[in-house]
Amino acid sequence: MNIDPACIFCRIITGELPSHKVHEDDLFLAFLDIAPMDEGHTVLVPKTHVNDILTLPAEYEAALGSVISRLGARLIQATGTASLNVLSNIGARAGQVVHHAHLHMIPRYPGDDSLNWTPGESSQEKLAELARQIRGY
Ligand code: AMP
Ligand code: ZN
Repeated sequence: MNIDPACIFCRIITGELPSHKVHEDDLFLAFLDIAPMDEGHTVLVPKTHVNDILTLPAEYEAALGSVISRLGARLIQATGTASLNVLSNIGARAGQVVHHAHLHMIPRYPGDDSLNWTPGESSQEKLAELARQIRGY
């Protein structure tokens, strides 16, 4: 476990700062977001300091999917809603403020439009070219 004493999430992991925990295992901790977008808004963090979820050590990467599934089911059950956003902000333009890898798990409720986005436009040609670039062949 790698801890950065200047990192707010590391300080929560070590117990130096308080949090409202909703899940903990050997590799991950989840707690309620202090400024929730919606009731039950949860932050899921690896118990090691890495900048974002693209740089997780292999054992965390391998375990992440099952933590998301189990915690997601618990959030849905506990809040009584059937809708949930699971997302990660990676980089400043994506809204990342805390530079310790994390996923937001946000229960969503009827009439709540705080996280809706506007569909854009493209063309089949542009989509095909972009897909080639991303695939790399
Ligand atoms: P991001 O913009 O993806 O970096 O999100 C960081 C999140 O961490 C924000 O939603 C904050 O409200 C949340 N946050 C910051 N400090 C704390 C804290 N001490 N306890 C719980 N959540 C926090
Ligand atoms: Zn950290």
